[in-house]
Amino acid sequence: MLRVSTMAARLAVSRWRAAPSAAGRGPLLSCRRWSGDKADTVYDVVVSGGGLVGAAMACALGFGAWDHICNMRYRAFRRMQVWDACSEALIMFDKDNLDDMGYIVENDVIMCALTKQLEAVSDRVTVLYRSKAVSYTWPYPFTMADSSPWVHITLGDGSTLQTKLLIGADGHNSGVRQAAGIQNVSWNYDQSAVVATLHLSEATENNVAWQRFLPSGPIALLPLSDTLSSLVWSTSHEHAAELVGMDEEKFVDTINSAFWSDANHTDFIDSASTVLQSVVGFLRPTKVSARQLPPSVARVDARSRVLFPLGLGHAAEYVRPRLALIGDAAHRVHPLAGQGVNMGFGDVSSLVHHLSAAAFNGKDLGSMSHLTGYETDRQRHNTALLAATDLLKRLYSTSAAPLVLLRTWGLQATNAVSPLKEQIMAFASK
Ligand SMILES: Cc1cc2nc3c(=O)[nH]c(=O)nc-3n(C[C@H](O)[C@H](O)[C@H](O)COP(=O)(O)OP(=O)(O)OC[C@H]3O[C@@H](n4cnc5c(N)ncnc54)[C@H](O)[C@@H]3O)c2cc1C
Repeated sequence: MLRVSTMAARLAVSRWRAAPSAAGRGPLLSCRRWSGDKADTVYDVVVSGGGLVGAAMACALGFGAWDHICNMRYRAFRRMQVWDACSEALIMFDKDNLDDMGYIVENDVIMCALTKQLEAVSDRVTVLYRSKAVSYTWPYPFTMADSSPWVHITLGDGSTLQTKLLIGADGHNSGVRQAAGIQNVSWNYDQSAVVATLHLSEATENNVAWQRFLPSGPIALLPLSDTLSSLVWSTSHEHAAELVGMDEEKFVDTINSAFWSDANHTDFIDSASTVLQSVVGFLRPTKVSARQLPPSVARVDARSRVLFPLGLGHAAEYVRPRLALIGDAAHRVHPLAGQGVNMGFGDVSSLVHHLSAAAFNGKDLGSMSHLTGYETDRQRHNTALLAATDLLKRLYSTSAAPLVLLRTWGLQATNAVSPLKEQIMAFASK
């Protein structure tokens, strides 16, 4: 889970070179410190956008940020329970040996760790804080013989940079994407998400991630510590505004009731669900996971309640000559699967892999020959996740009996097939 806060526009700038690793395990990327007159310098790479994904890209060369996170706040979770407010259907994800499934880290903690890591690589990476890129000039069409072969970036203060490869990490309204004229399929959802930091009524082991699908949208409670959890509640715009404006006591009561109330159950769906459960149990005898209830909430951190409108977006192309898009600039997803920034970090990992190989072989970093490899890898993964997330959002946005029955059956059947659940967990962690 990540809580998103608006950050000042930033531009991370780096010069990258490939160097063989001392241990001989393959190439590592390293950066050269920029020096001299900005306008005369051609950077190997410029990352436009210093959010979670852009900052991760800029310091991906030695991603020691995790060590910083370990010194701050993060929480492992060992189980995830997802259940339907309209029926008894649930799915439980866990590992047989109760190993950690993943970690919940707050947005601010990751950002702080990435900033520390950028300081640690400041001999190779230059960060221009509070700089805004206002325009980009591309080196195409290539027919103009006297034009510069590099991408030119103009900053808000009028200064310019040039680079062999511009990486657009400037969020879902990406100016880089728009300037390149890359088509973006997008729509707004009829929902906003309310996020908040919550204090539990009592200290618990707190190692389960909870998500319940209400007819108005999913509500999730994600562990942060023994006594703190994070809320992400996607609901109609009107309800979200109401939730943000509520007094604390009513807000807390509304959250507890959203997790505990069975007001959306009907006898028909409950009976059908019981029959389906018996059929599944007969066909595939397995340990049935009993529904558990999340810990109760007692208080909310003042000023932690914030609202975000939700939408979907996907760039038709992730790369062009001398250009790559990563993170929300390339794809925007509903938070119900908690995958947005994970997809962005997957982009970083894939792009670093392809750039590393290109640099090691002395190839031009901005050439399409390796950038298309990145695009193919990531579009295959990201489009599948976007489609699945959008489908789930639509399937769970209704209390119409046939669809409730369909998803009840789907959830119960999936819950009974452990290999399928393992595949889902493996895919989501890529
Ligand atoms: C309610 C909610 C809950 C979420 N929960 C999860 C979750 O649990 N797990 C998960 O994986 N994901 C989650 N996400 C998604 C995640 O927050 C995003 O995917 C992630 O923050 C995207 O990071 P980014 O760096 O690509 O873009 P952004 O965070 O949008 O960063 C873009 C950066 O670029 C800068 N910028 C923009 N224009 C310029 C310019 N012209 N010049 C210079 N800089 C510029 C901006 O100032 C900003 O700093 C959630 C999202 C929401 C809304």
